[in-house]
Amino acid sequence: MTQRKGRPRQGGPSDITTTTLARNVYVVDEPSHWLRARVGELLRRLDALPLPRHDLVVTPLGRTGHPGSREDRCCDRCRRYTPPGRPFYVVRYRPRPRVEVAGGLCATCARAEGVETP
Ligand SMILES: [Zn+2]
Repeated sequence: MTQRKGRPRQGGPSDITTTTLARNVYVVDEPSHWLRARVGELLRRLDALPLPRHDLVVTPLGRTGHPGSREDRCCDRCRRYTPPGRPFYVVRYRPRPRVEVAGGLCATCARAEGVETP
């Protein structure tokens, strides 16, 4: 497992780090501007639900399928499918201590969000 630091993009978002999870699968360790906005919408919806106060709530960023399914490798930003073997960026973000948001980005959207991509 390696850690890489993204480079700042001129006029773009700040650099965002990733951790290599598997070959061509990277975990985005920091929220981008787009992700923060999207999570804000999710939190407003979660706050309206009668959720347990002391348990961890893991919620998908967008639509999701069973692990390994086609839907599981669709980008939550543009909905484009990334076939196995192509770079895919897993998003894990805890906006609150007991809420974790999980999702995925294609390489194009990861670059647009300031993530350094191979
Ligand atoms: Zn995308």
